[in-house]
Amino acid sequence: MNDDNPYAAPEFSVRPDGKFSDQAFGSLDAEGCWQDGNLLVLSKGAQLPDRCVKCNLPANDFRLERKLSWHPPIWFLTVFISPLIYVIVALCVRHTAKIEVGLCEEHRRRRSRAIASAWIAILGGVGLIFGGAALIDPEWAPLPVLVGLVTILVGIIVGIVGSQVATTKSIDQHHVWLAKVNPEYLKMLPTWLD
Ligand SMILES: [Zn+2]
Repeated sequence: MNDDNPYAAPEFSVRPDGKFSDQAFGSLDAEGCWQDGNLLVLSKGAQLPDRCVKCNLPANDFRLERKLSWHPPIWFLTVFISPLIYVIVALCVRHTAKIEVGLCEEHRRRRSRAIASAWIAILGGVGLIFGGAALIDPEWAPLPVLVGLVTILVGIIVGIVGSQVATTKSIDQHHVWLAKVNPEYLKMLPTWLD
């Protein structure tokens, strides 16, 4: 188990390849990353600083890989024509990106806990739906089904919200814009001038 204190002052260490692993300012590691107001902009393929995007503590070389997909929100309107048409259109107009985000130990733990809680709720809900109805008076059978469905829904929401590390605001051919990134993290980065 790693007993590093997550609240310790950031250390500026030199990695075996000679790069400063924690120094985001102008460091080679942070090339291709900018702040755009309260958004983080990064070039596709750029390496983000070795910092937690949620709290700006050192990520100690941990990276969480995320595959992102985004399309202009206007295309959501095609769902009113037909959900199938929306799916086809969305697949055609979407932009995708693969990014690697730094997370500290504490936020890694929180994320794992949220995902585990989500699964427990989803499986508990399924158990209630199939097991509950058989165990109680038939008159009350709809009750466990209803509670089970709500539990599954809560589990899905907890899973989606808890596993999210940053929100995709936009993706174009070359860049990705992320929201909900720690403000101190953003301050370390050069300003996006485009
Ligand atoms: Zn963190």
